[in-house]
Amino acid sequence: MVAALVAGAFAVGATHVDAVGRAAGEITPLGDTAQLASSVTRATAPEVLPAAQIADPAWDAAELGRAAQLQADQVARVAGEQAAAAEKAAQEAQAAAERAAQEAAAKAAAAAAERERAAREAAARQPLYVKPAEGVFTSGFGARWGTTHKGVDIANAIGTPVRSVADGVVVEAGPASGFGLWVRVRHTDGTISVYGHVNEILASAGQQVKAGTQIATMGNRGQSTGPHLHFEVWLNGSQKINPLPWLAERGIQL
Ligand SMILES: [Zn+2]
Repeated sequence: MVAALVAGAFAVGATHVDAVGRAAGEITPLGDTAQLASSVTRATAPEVLPAAQIADPAWDAAELGRAAQLQADQVARVAGEQAAAAEKAAQEAQAAAERAAQEAAAKAAAAAAERERAAREAAARQPLYVKPAEGVFTSGFGARWGTTHKGVDIANAIGTPVRSVADGVVVEAGPASGFGLWVRVRHTDGTISVYGHVNEILASAGQQVKAGTQIATMGNRGQSTGPHLHFEVWLNGSQKINPLPWLAERGIQL
């Protein structure tokens, strides 16, 4: 830098000399030389460094070295700042991605919880057990008229709905000795419920039913003394038990 400035100052002087001189080889009086030198000095003085510094190559090299070191330091500092900024941006992007993933997971969990709640509500609305028919309880389980009455009787008008007492599958729907027509439903625990003397059958074997599904209408078919439903409970599909406590354990009173 210093060397270039000094060389420039000399170059300006040389050009000036050429401009005012004559053709090469022509002898020209130098009467204006002092004035010319003064002009050069004025033009370049502010940028000309002290002779002592110009004359010292070691000082110049040291100055260049310091400048290079400053420039290298500047480059290193800028690079460091850029690297730090890049690392910060990467960390922010990572944090944003983690927040987005957490929010998505929270939304999915909330949606799943809502579906589960709706399913529970639907299940709660669906009763597990219902009365087999509305009517008057007219006869209980046990000995009757010299024989054993294997079920309970509920009397009402012909056509009164007869409903499956629980979820299950219809295993038989048709004629039955003594009952005229009957429907039998097997429930999930293996218990079979029996509906006798029905007037009309409204279900068929193999049909899935829910608690409360109407499967027949009340009638007076078979060995019957009046319109009523004869209802039995067969534990494990075969053991005929008193339906009253079985129903009471399930919240149903006749
Ligand atoms: Zn009966």
